[in-house]
Amino acid sequence: MVLEVLQHAPGEVVRSALPPVLRKVDGKLPAPPLNYFLTRAGRERLEQPAGRQKTQFLMLEALAGGARAGETLSGIGSQWRKTLSRLREQGWVKEKPALPDQATFAPGPQLTDEQQNAVDNISRDLRHFHCHLLDGITGSGKTEVYMKLMEVVLARDKQVLVLVPEIGLTPQLLRRFRQRLGLEPAVIHSGLSQGQRLEAWAAARTGLSQLVVGTRSALFTPMPKAGLIILDEEHDASFKQQDGFRYSARDVAVKRAADLNIPVVLGSATPSLESLSNAFAGKYAWHRLRERATRASLPGWRVLDLCQQNTINGLTAPALKSMGEAIDRGEQVMVFLNRRGYSPVLMCQQCGWHGSCDRCDANLTWHRSARLLCCHHCGSQRKAPELCPDCRADALMGAGEGTQQLEEALEQRFTGIPVLRFDRDRTRRKGVMDKQLGEVLKGDACLLVGTQMLAKGHHFPNVTLVVIVNIDQALYSADFRALERMGQMLQQVAGRAGRMEKPGTVILQTLHPEHPALELLLTRGYEAYARWLLEERQLAGLPPAGYQALLRAEAHERSAVEKFLQDAIELFPAGEASAHGPMPAIMERKGGRSRMYLMLTSPGRSSLHLQIDQWLAGLRDLPSGRKTRWAIDIDPQEL
Ligand code: ADP
Ligand code: ZN
Ligand code: ZN
Repeated sequence: MVLEVLQHAPGEVVRSALPPVLRKVDGKLPAPPLNYFLTRAGRERLEQPAGRQKTQFLMLEALAGGARAGETLSGIGSQWRKTLSRLREQGWVKEKPALPDQATFAPGPQLTDEQQNAVDNISRDLRHFHCHLLDGITGSGKTEVYMKLMEVVLARDKQVLVLVPEIGLTPQLLRRFRQRLGLEPAVIHSGLSQGQRLEAWAAARTGLSQLVVGTRSALFTPMPKAGLIILDEEHDASFKQQDGFRYSARDVAVKRAADLNIPVVLGSATPSLESLSNAFAGKYAWHRLRERATRASLPGWRVLDLCQQNTINGLTAPALKSMGEAIDRGEQVMVFLNRRGYSPVLMCQQCGWHGSCDRCDANLTWHRSARLLCCHHCGSQRKAPELCPDCRADALMGAGEGTQQLEEALEQRFTGIPVLRFDRDRTRRKGVMDKQLGEVLKGDACLLVGTQMLAKGHHFPNVTLVVIVNIDQALYSADFRALERMGQMLQQVAGRAGRMEKPGTVILQTLHPEHPALELLLTRGYEAYARWLLEERQLAGLPPAGYQALLRAEAHERSAVEKFLQDAIELFPAGEASAHGPMPAIMERKGGRSRMYLMLTSPGRSSLHLQIDQWLAGLRDLPSGRKTRWAIDIDPQEL
């Protein structure tokens, strides 16, 4: 059980599973969702010219094909609800309660042998709990496999829950589901209004919606006829919620499937080490897709040694040259910056020096504001140097440059070519993501600049070149998961290149082309790489070979946090699990508070939980705990 309920009252756990509106319980369930359809007057209106009310006319057109759920009109204008009520006031549109979706299956492509094998093996026994890992390279057609399985389950009048890591990914996927399965999915994610969420939630709850698609927050959607859970991009760290009530969506999805006695399919081109080790051990059924479903070949890699090259805004001359050539051919280029999820490392851009700990086999983390280099394993720290200690160059920089600077630089260099930026700041505004994606899919030459979010699941037929600016902070991160994430990220980003008939190239810039991890990944592939990482974890007793938890604490005063954690470590009961620390969190100051943690490790899960349980009462009574905010994080994804 990985639900972290230790420091949460049961009510809190239940609350976070319900849409916010329902938390103000008055016992009433919301009305069923409505479908909207054209009246005769509405049809007559459509025969007239559009006139000035363009948006109203568009919506009428959208309804001409038959009744639709309100949700499906949300792409029409910025205020579709208002437009819809205007149409109703005019008597052009009426509503009726939505009937259960009637599936009108559209045939998909002929499956490849590998796809067919996976479908056959998984559908052989859909009536019981079993965990399936669909391990298929990018473009191998995992989504087609999901849809075939969904057809089978839907035809038995069961419900399917599909979980995806990013809201931004859902429109493409929803379109495919609609076209293939002929039904309107209920969509649940945290970006929806309360009303929208409630509507979707009720549709699932009443069994009216057979298909529920959502992000992590959809995990607890009640489904009376649940028949299958699919978790796409199962390796994605966003399935782990980092604030407040913490749980790993992957583990909870598996648990939920077990409770419901239904199968769960975890899909990824780069499975997490946890899932792979379960597959290696035979606990999960392992379905591999090793070929692309379309004719597209896998991209070629080109590694550029940053030590040998001058850079302009982080880009080397050969990279810029290739970018120019691709643009001249009318193709699209993706420039990828790896910014989030890694601890910052101070590096020399001249010789590649980076700080490492004298006492541990570990790299130092750069705390920019405090000008310190810290070891997150033993807690030692020292002042960050001004000049490179090795070559004396004034070339020390935090690894990873900003997307915005890069966007500006590219705009200057490639005048007249659109530069589309995909990062959290840019796509936070509603509609920006869709608009930019639409532009990319038009296929004209353009440059895409972005972070992690670009690496996920998108299908861009005209992207032929991917440039990865720098991944070195991952090679030397203090976070033991950094190499796993790096391998997944490289593989995923590379999967964006050359998805159709044009071959793709991936350029990787690094100060450490000879790094063994990189070499292994690029020459032997992700599976070999993952096996090697698993062996390393085994040797170090790290997850999934061992188990970890953190006692996190924060307060305005660093000394208060330290005092509490020191008191806490003394109370830690003896046993198989042990406690280490206190250590500062990688982002030590956040929102004006100091954050630190104790690391708890154990070869066995039950001993870890048992000892934490014994520990808790004492922790709650600690006077020093009153001045700090603290929580226990089981299976932490970051430090
Ligand atoms: P994945 O999810 O594994 O990255 P997708 O399911 O998105 O792959 O498939 C990639 C592309 O290949 C899509 O355009 C899809 O329509 C196409 N495709 C998938 N399976 C087949 C098939 N059996 N025959 C032809 N095209 C296919
Ligand atoms: Zn140097
Ligand atoms: Zn150290």
